Amino acid sequence: MHAAMSRAWLIGAGPGDVELMTLKATRALAQADVVLVDDLVNPEVLQFARADALVVYVGKRGGHPSTPQAGIVAQMLEHLRAGRSVARLKGGDPFVFGRGGEEQEALHAAGISVDVINGITAGIAAPAAIGIPVTHRDHAQGVVFVTGHGAGSGEPDWAALVATRMTLVIYMGMRRLNEIVDALLAAGMSADTPCAAIESATRPEQRHALARLGEFADTVSRAGLGSPAIVVIGGVASLALARDAVKVGSESQRHARKTLTVGIGCRLHSSAEEIETAVRATLGSHSFDEISTIASVDLKAHETGLLEFCARHALPLKLFSREQIAAISVEDPSAATREHLGIDGVCEPCALLAAATESDAAHASISSMTPVASFAADTANARLLVRKTVHAGITVAIASTTARLACEHANNDTQEQDLP
Ligand code: SAH
Repeated sequence: MHAAMSRAWLIGAGPGDVELMTLKATRALAQADVVLVDDLVNPEVLQFARADALVVYVGKRGGHPSTPQAGIVAQMLEHLRAGRSVARLKGGDPFVFGRGGEEQEALHAAGISVDVINGITAGIAAPAAIGIPVTHRDHAQGVVFVTGHGAGSGEPDWAALVATRMTLVIYMGMRRLNEIVDALLAAGMSADTPCAAIESATRPEQRHALARLGEFADTVSRAGLGSPAIVVIGGVASLALARDAVKVGSESQRHARKTLTVGIGCRLHSSAEEIETAVRATLGSHSFDEISTIASVDLKAHETGLLEFCARHALPLKLFSREQIAAISVEDPSAATREHLGIDGVCEPCALLAAATESDAAHASISSMTPVASFAADTANARLLVRKTVHAGITVAIASTTARLACEHANNDTQEQDLP
């Protein structure tokens, strides 16, 4: 039977940095027909998936309610029974606070075996990213991984943990940080205990804060650190490299610079979800917050999927005529776009056109169409950033405004760094 041919994998995508994924994970991904992706997975890892793989986001961020666990398993079973191989991608390690165990049980119960591929868990990667060796023998005999999420009966026995004198690495601890700190102090942990919180570890936007337990909750809240973050409590935190620690009160880092413009070419009736998936994968380590404008060809003015996608993210849609698009020459267009040029030919030129208008505040009005000539001059200020076709029929190109806008955004350190 065909279904016997399909395979299932539970894959850890690691903490964020694509290079921290295992070779085994990339090989499995390359075989999957369907990839089910969790929130904390860096979409850049999808570069290892087949271009024709069906990619489904099942996480709760990005404005979607999270897909209930049962629904995820049901989706996996449906694809597997139809003979499709399924890769279930999770952040970090699939078996560390990732519900991978539950999914494995459910698949086993359905008579399906699943291969588990480890990932580097955030609780190890995040401390290491700022130089904290979690079991340095001068400071601790061991390390405890614990969730800070639970309350009531789900609450860890903090007093018992304090008594172990081991390094505490807390996942999902940010929302209840005040209560956790209070519980540790109440259990007799010294207010001088070194602590660290590391947000978005191993990603370009990584930040962290260091403080003694007594001031820790305050420091973290003033720094505006939020999820996802790992909290490390114990002597080893004193070994963190303070070099790039968050300066308390420096809010500017929180506001992403909107320097990206996204050109989308899609076939008729592409859904908002399909477009979302393609854009997410193309963004890689960049976030939706960095996007200033979506651009496409004016023929798409009534594409409901595209309009819905833009509305969902409150992004303006700029439309350009075929003549405007034809006037923009793209150096070295990607194979995907070249292939696409035959159908719509809009993605890269549109991204550049939109970037050109963005870089000139006077032309920033959303609906106005400025003559081609003035764009053409301005495209010198933009350059293409990431290019990839994810779904058949949807091409996404991203341009970033460089010269003029980059100057306006002083100390812009991340934008240039991660250009391919
Ligand atoms: N299976 C994952 C953990 C999932 S629980 C793993 O092994 O890493 C989700 C929690 O993981 C987040 O609340 C946060 O505490 C932590 N986390 C995941 N990725 C992170 C990252 N890049 N930086 C900091 N914390 C992260």
